[in-house]
Amino acid sequence: IAAFKQRDPYFSEQQFEDFASTAFFKIQQAWAMRNMSSANAFVSPTLLQRFTAQLDQLKREGRVNRMDNLAVGSVEIVEISNDGGNDYITVKINASAADYTIDEKSGKIVAGSRQPQPFTEYWTFLRSDQVKTKAGGTALESKQCPNCGAPLQVNAIGKCDYCGSEVTSGAFSWVLSEITQASVWRPRAASAPRPETVSPLAGGRYVLGLVQCPQCGANVQDLFGVTREKCWRCGAIVETRQ
Ligand SMILES: [Zn+2]
Ligand SMILES: [Zn+2]
Repeated sequence: IAAFKQRDPYFSEQQFEDFASTAFFKIQQAWAMRNMSSANAFVSPTLLQRFTAQLDQLKREGRVNRMDNLAVGSVEIVEISNDGGNDYITVKINASAADYTIDEKSGKIVAGSRQPQPFTEYWTFLRSDQVKTKAGGTALESKQCPNCGAPLQVNAIGKCDYCGSEVTSGAFSWVLSEITQASVWRPRAASAPRPETVSPLAGGRYVLGLVQCPQCGANVQDLFGVTREKCWRCGAIVETRQ
């Protein structure tokens, strides 16, 4: 963190953790409302697309995923890295919620429980390493397009409605690029070879493709260096290709 502050003197750990915590609540709220548009301005287009695809799949099945009584216990920066173009900051979030999925018709719980459970997730944000924190600190949402100055309206592919500028590419401010479950997260190995299929928006974890969950059929990311991943939908352990 000290090294990062040398490059970005106005960066504040506390402010970033507050920002991450606000983003966490807003994104969970958007997810619960089954409409990601309120999170358009601070989620990478790739991740936004994945959220939307997951919500669409649940809708098609007549299911609703609820996150009741969401509470955040702690948010802590655990890793700062750079890939030669973007800076990545990962925060460890300890939270609790009643996470369950209901069938819309019957109202019955088909997965999870109404009992709040603690959980840990690693959220990775990225920003171009050409960008520095402004004197006022890290703002979650700017009110104006950073490119054209129009009132900010970010569409579902991360572009300003007025000028088409890619607001959520990380070229202007921090955007959420990846969420990793505690069971599969590990620090980014600096020496890891980079496969050809590097996704620039995978938060330093390289997405090799998608594998299908054998239990429920959902598409699960195949992450570089990860051999077993928990299915985001049914919780089954999915063996990835490596
Ligand atoms: Zn604009
Ligand atoms: Zn599954």
